[in-house]
Amino acid sequence: MDKLLDQAITQLLRRLDPDRSEVRIRNELAVLRSRARLALIFLATVLIPGVALAVIGVSAIGAESREVWEDVRDEGDRDLLDVMKGVEGIFSTFEEQVKTRLVSGRSPVDNQSSISPFLLTAFRLDGQGQLEAPFTAEPLPPLEDQSFYFSPAWRQAQALEQREAYTAAAAAYLNAAKQAHAIHEEGEARFNAARMRAKAGDTEQALLLYADLYADYSEVRGLHGFRLGDLAALKRGEIRLAQDPEIGRVDLRELVRRQLDRRWTLGSGGLDAAIAARALELLEPVEEKDWLATHRGRLDAKTEQLYWAKQLYPELRVIHPEGRVLPVDRGSLSYSLGKDALWATMWWGEENPDYYAFALDMQALEREIEALARSATRTSELVNVVVIGPDRSAPEDTLARRSLNPWLRGYEVSAHPRSVADLDALRRDKAVQRAAILVLALVMIIVGAFLTLRLVGQELQVARSQADFAANVSHELRSPITQIRLKGESLQFGMAETEEELQAHYDAIVRESERLSRLVDNVLDFAAIERGHKKYSFRPVPIAETVRSAVDAARYSMEAKDLDIQLTLAPALPVVFHDPEALAQVMHNLISNAAKYGKEGGWIGVDVRMQAELVIVSVSDRGIGIAAEEIPHLFEHFYRSRDPAARRRKGTGIGLSIVQYIVEAHGGHVEVRSTLGQGTTFALHFPLAPPATA
Ligand code: ADP
Repeated sequence: MDKLLDQAITQLLRRLDPDRSEVRIRNELAVLRSRARLALIFLATVLIPGVALAVIGVSAIGAESREVWEDVRDEGDRDLLDVMKGVEGIFSTFEEQVKTRLVSGRSPVDNQSSISPFLLTAFRLDGQGQLEAPFTAEPLPPLEDQSFYFSPAWRQAQALEQREAYTAAAAAYLNAAKQAHAIHEEGEARFNAARMRAKAGDTEQALLLYADLYADYSEVRGLHGFRLGDLAALKRGEIRLAQDPEIGRVDLRELVRRQLDRRWTLGSGGLDAAIAARALELLEPVEEKDWLATHRGRLDAKTEQLYWAKQLYPELRVIHPEGRVLPVDRGSLSYSLGKDALWATMWWGEENPDYYAFALDMQALEREIEALARSATRTSELVNVVVIGPDRSAPEDTLARRSLNPWLRGYEVSAHPRSVADLDALRRDKAVQRAAILVLALVMIIVGAFLTLRLVGQELQVARSQADFAANVSHELRSPITQIRLKGESLQFGMAETEEELQAHYDAIVRESERLSRLVDNVLDFAAIERGHKKYSFRPVPIAETVRSAVDAARYSMEAKDLDIQLTLAPALPVVFHDPEALAQVMHNLISNAAKYGKEGGWIGVDVRMQAELVIVSVSDRGIGIAAEEIPHLFEHFYRSRDPAARRRKGTGIGLSIVQYIVEAHGGHVEVRSTLGQGTTFALHFPLAPPATA
């Protein structure tokens, strides 16, 4: 594959320019290949992932807004499910209670409070629709004739009573009883007679009369609808309580119990309650607290039931199938909405099924379902659940809804966003978030690509520098070798004739060999430094001496190039711990750079002085100078200036690296000051003694 491609490119290059040499074609092929590789890397690491990320990210942002709605709808669904669970719980516990009672033979109509907290009251009707429990619906016996109250005997008795002639009044009432036309008239007259006896202080007679009344007229209702038996028992109890609390107490307790156990009728249950309440009142000072409390509680419950039964019975008459209807779906509750109550009704029984009707408190149920809705959405900032009755319509923006069938026909619970604006804001926030992540990812890819490219660039630069270095070194080697060979051959073949000529040849051979050996020294040192093998031996030597001999060594070749080298030594320069050979090499590198990058017939200044505790050796020239942006790179391995003026001069790019390494090994540092076109100064700052770690 690679080969085919190479051949195709080679053909193309040949065709484009038939004069291209084979070598050039090969070079261009290599360049093209490395560029193609770079382009491929760029494509794989930056372009394709970047574009893919952008496309995916943009579509994800679009999907996000749909997701927000879906999330909120799901949440609404979940909340509704919670509410439905609660509602189901209310009705299933209610139904269970009813069924367990029925199955175990206990009536679900008595002791209703434990069936459901929402139960207002419950009824049992027989197959013919007669109310049987907890009350009966017998109408009050009609008061046939009220005229007796105005019979002459009765009126006489009343007159005597008014005059407080109680004994006479008692006799008159008994007389009226004898003349009575109806049993309730007779009973009422006898009751009054007993009352008169009691008022007259004849308690024995009164008690006897009450006992008779109790025995003979117990179910007969008097003027106000009370049973005369109950009234007599109450009066008797009251008197006996005054005579002997122990006996009276037993009587009254018996009366209370009887009233509570009796099946009240819807019409006159209130009278039974009133008798029981009065008996309890009488018992108050003598009876045990607990007993009183329990019975008062029972009385209250029964009275309340009676209240609701009276309220709701007319509604039941409407929903109850009149007369005997074939009971369908026996044993299961069916629900229907009344005006104030939710009716749960069912048939139960094998032979003669009874009809049960449970009136549940509609308002309390609604409140409870609303509370369930509130608690289901308590932690939600987004969803609101409302209960919607049959006569109300759902608000807009419904997320989800559920019917409360079969319990509350026509009712539903429905979930809505708390605020559409908030939802939109959330959607926007999420879109911004995703966009930010996307941008961040793209930026990271780009930065990564940039860093990679830079790294690759630097690597290439290093590789190129190394290649240049090899070329530069060979070039640098060639000119002294050529010189030496030329001069040597001239001598060999006796081409130098005069004494001066001979001397010039010898001098050139020595100079060029020195140059050669310096170059080789530099390369070897550099290699040793790179491998970390370079060691220096520090000796206490006067610094002036080392610098002077380095300058002297250079002076000869400088003068040959018509360069003026000037050494300035400050007085009383100290002895410095240093490696004189290494420092000589530093000086050589700096001076030869000053010469190389100086101007024809130029000037080089070497200056040594003290500054605080430091010795400063500087080498200055008035040459081409260095651009400011290049100064930080000067000491990098193989670095050579980009400036064409500098490039024209031969070099290897390792001289300053060696300088810096040696100076730093002495615990010092190098400073560069340069102005382009005007000159450069390299200043070496040395401490008097190298650091212990050096
Ligand atoms: P080279 O062998 O190229 O001289 P060096 O490490 O000695 O390598 O110097 C690195 C670069 O610093 C040189 O290529 C040159 O551009 C610049 N340089 C060094 N000394 C001077 C100077 N005195 N004046 C101007 N440029 C200099």
